[in-house]
Amino acid sequence: MVLRADPQVDPAGGGTEDMKVHDVVVIGGGPAGSCAATLLARSGHPVLVLERERFPRFHVGESLLPYNTEIFDELGLGPKLAAAGFPVKRGAQFHLGNGAKGTSFVFRNGRFTRHGEAYQVERSRFDEILLRHAAECGAEVREGVAVESVATDADGVTVRTSDGETHRGRFLVDASGRGNLTGNQEGVKVMNPKLRKVAVFAHFEGVQLDPGTKGGDTVIVRQERHWFWLIPLRVDEGGSGRVSVGVVMDRDDFAASGETGEALLGRLVAESPPVAERLRSARRESAVHVTSDFSYRNTRFWSPRCVRVGDAAGFIDPIFSSGVFLAMFSARAATRAVRDSIRAGDDGAAAFAVYETRIRSALSIYQEMVDGFYTQPFMELFLEPRAKLDLAAAVNAVLAGELEGGWKLRWRMWLFFRLVRLQARFPLVPRFSLAPAA
Ligand SMILES: Cc1cc2nc3c(=O)[nH]c(=O)nc-3n(C[C@H](O)[C@H](O)[C@H](O)COP(=O)(O)OP(=O)(O)OC[C@H]3O[C@@H](n4cnc5c(N)ncnc54)[C@H](O)[C@@H]3O)c2cc1C
Repeated sequence: MVLRADPQVDPAGGGTEDMKVHDVVVIGGGPAGSCAATLLARSGHPVLVLERERFPRFHVGESLLPYNTEIFDELGLGPKLAAAGFPVKRGAQFHLGNGAKGTSFVFRNGRFTRHGEAYQVERSRFDEILLRHAAECGAEVREGVAVESVATDADGVTVRTSDGETHRGRFLVDASGRGNLTGNQEGVKVMNPKLRKVAVFAHFEGVQLDPGTKGGDTVIVRQERHWFWLIPLRVDEGGSGRVSVGVVMDRDDFAASGETGEALLGRLVAESPPVAERLRSARRESAVHVTSDFSYRNTRFWSPRCVRVGDAAGFIDPIFSSGVFLAMFSARAATRAVRDSIRAGDDGAAAFAVYETRIRSALSIYQEMVDGFYTQPFMELFLEPRAKLDLAAAVNAVLAGELEGGWKLRWRMWLFFRLVRLQARFPLVPRFSLAPAA
């Protein structure tokens, strides 16, 4: 990819006399960018992070997965996150809005699940902890600076920023999130036509939570044409707390409603008994946000000298709260590829190709689950977990973030999806209706 040649840059990769050349320039200081920057800095590589916002800043995506824990530990973040006092998530609940059915996954109970707990986080605080940690580990972090253009050549990458500066790196990690900077520039972004969703959400105080350890659960409520998330952000004594409440629906349904986000959220909450019940004494404590929630995937996750991580590689519908974990999982893998390429003295092509195969396979696991979630046969089996052959345990492990659990998980997930197909034709478990209760 050569987007713009830069005559000022020394083709030998040394940069101009006054231009420092970093081993790696990272675009974006979200979870993916911070993760990459921390790992690179800790292994002694000069790394520059360019983040267009000033932290703390609001961000959606508050429910983490248990397998994030091993990445936090690798980054040395464990004590800082423990001290932050984020609620602990031990499971996820899925309910039908008409009350006909519901089930809970408790991560600790999963036979194949190695990590049993995750955090629920206000992203403004969480992302700031991660970015400041990257700086403490030695990354140079510049906030309030947007990358405007990227040009690669045989020896490295030159980026130009909104403050008129130019930076040079031997490699670029694009962690620009759904901004998908290099993917858009290269024209490799492909939208998923079936998942053009819109999310409407806000934070509420005084939301009723489940008693005991279930108080930190993510609660998903599936209605016929949309679904809700309830993510506890603070759990108070007395069984209530601050909760992120959001509803996800087709873009066309949102447009057809003709309502403001605020009116729509209020109406849909009132029409969903399980959600309305939890919010009966709640008050909204934030603005109502409306954001597009369109799934997409880039056809390539890399070009020579440039690798895309997190949402800048692909964005998956958030139903299973996989976004932050996948962002950090991919950033960690990309970092290893960059380090190997620096050591080998090449342009990354060999290591990035291996990286892409690994991440595509990880994304596909969640994509198959997401596609299933919007179909009735999947929901019928998903909400009727069977201990037989440990299929429910395999699903539990995937929900916790086990992406590389080997053959023992692969064949069970394969069988689970075969049973979903069978369920479409013959009822292996009782059928149910998603229609609102009469
Ligand atoms: C409605 C919705 C609900 C979600 N819920 C969940 C959830 O519950 N759990 C979960 O895990 N995930 C969830 N996600 C997904 C999650 O938000 C993302 O997957 C995650 O934030 C990806 O991390 P990232 O670091 O790749 O990108 P981001 O977190 O978006 O970070 C990218 C950073 O890059 C910066 N940036 C962008 N362009 C530039 C530029 N040109 N120059 C400099 N900086 C730039 C941005 O300011 C931003 O700080 C949800 C997403 C949506 C849309």
